[in-house]
Amino acid sequence: MPAKYSPFEGALKQFEKAANALKLEPHIADILKKHQKVITVNIPVKMDDGSVKVFTGYRAQHNNFRGPYKGGIRYHPDVNLDEVLALSMWMTWKCAVVDIPFGGGKGGISCPVKYMSVAEKERMTRKYVQMIAKDIGPELDIPAPDVYTDSQTMAWIFDEYSKIVGYPAYGVVTGKPIELGGSLGRTQATGYGVAACVREAVKLFNKDIKETTVAIQGFGNVAYYAAEKLYKWGAKVVAISDSQGGIYDKEGFDPIDVMEYKQKTGTVVGYKEVKKISNEALLISECDVLVPAALEDQITSTNAPQVKAKIIVEGANGPTTPEADEILFKKGVYIVPDILANAGGVTVSYFEWVQNFQKFQWDEQTVLNRMEEKLVKAFKDVNATAKKYNVDNRTAALMLAIKRVADAYKLKGDY
Ligand code: GLU
Repeated sequence: MPAKYSPFEGALKQFEKAANALKLEPHIADILKKHQKVITVNIPVKMDDGSVKVFTGYRAQHNNFRGPYKGGIRYHPDVNLDEVLALSMWMTWKCAVVDIPFGGGKGGISCPVKYMSVAEKERMTRKYVQMIAKDIGPELDIPAPDVYTDSQTMAWIFDEYSKIVGYPAYGVVTGKPIELGGSLGRTQATGYGVAACVREAVKLFNKDIKETTVAIQGFGNVAYYAAEKLYKWGAKVVAISDSQGGIYDKEGFDPIDVMEYKQKTGTVVGYKEVKKISNEALLISECDVLVPAALEDQITSTNAPQVKAKIIVEGANGPTTPEADEILFKKGVYIVPDILANAGGVTVSYFEWVQNFQKFQWDEQTVLNRMEEKLVKAFKDVNATAKKYNVDNRTAALMLAIKRVADAYKLKGDY
């Protein structure tokens, strides 16, 4: 059964629930429900065969009361305005919940990214930057990687934008290659942050991480580094998947070994001939912790009743629908919501931006320690808020975040 709400409808539902619990003034709720600016561009791209294709791109700027808009750019055939609206709103709350001085933005281009050559992607990225150049900038809106974009994509954005403004504008984008002002630790940051949230949640259940089984949906950047760290800490990573399917072994996998296999074959399926499972089956597989780290709307009212995990840590943005949320809360499943669980990435993006302005590179351990410190503090704050107001963790995280944004607005005044 498809999700009842679109991603943005779901984001608004979550917002309303938290705003009600906060008793937020209606006019402030009205302001925060709306995006400040939404840009749509139609990008003509010269393909390798000489033809020209037009791809639609977006940049949604939800809110900048606490700082410049911040958020990734995703390339995927399913990118659409509704999704970008939801993702940019979640960025506002994400930055506020970990208390970094940014607002929320998100961009994307609807394109057949998996079938495009590097040269086609480069031409598309540069054109997109030309078309949105006036609306991004180191103090205005700072993109970063997301689904199917990476440090190379950020290097093109940095270069194209710098050519337009006439100076090397390192702070315009984060997630850059180290050679071009990227931060050490940025690549691992989101996954390591997810792993830290798993560890903190497991502690609340008085369980040892070494006795914990974790099923991870996905094997991209977030999922891989979460798996790698959890394995290192002694957890059993019992399931991993990619778009072609998943693998399950109750004895657990070594994620580094699985990654080597995937790099050779293109998929995790077939690894050491272990049991193959579908992505759907992975979500309801036997495990203590479930980490959905792929795309939105994975845990729905259809499969939520069958989820066996006691803890869900959301590596992806929006993997759980609002209806599934209710079901899981009633079942007593402890959810670490996306805006907290995957905030390690944007936190290190913030550190990258700071380093760009400082013209000084921090060492990797400093970066990762500071990231963990921020995340663990936010984890504790969310937990305390959930207890205080007797609400689920997602509502608690949103309450914390929305209050911070609303307070910034009130202090500025609306003149
Ligand atoms: N795309 C990532 C996210 O959803 C990172 C955003 C950033 O670093 O600005 O959090």
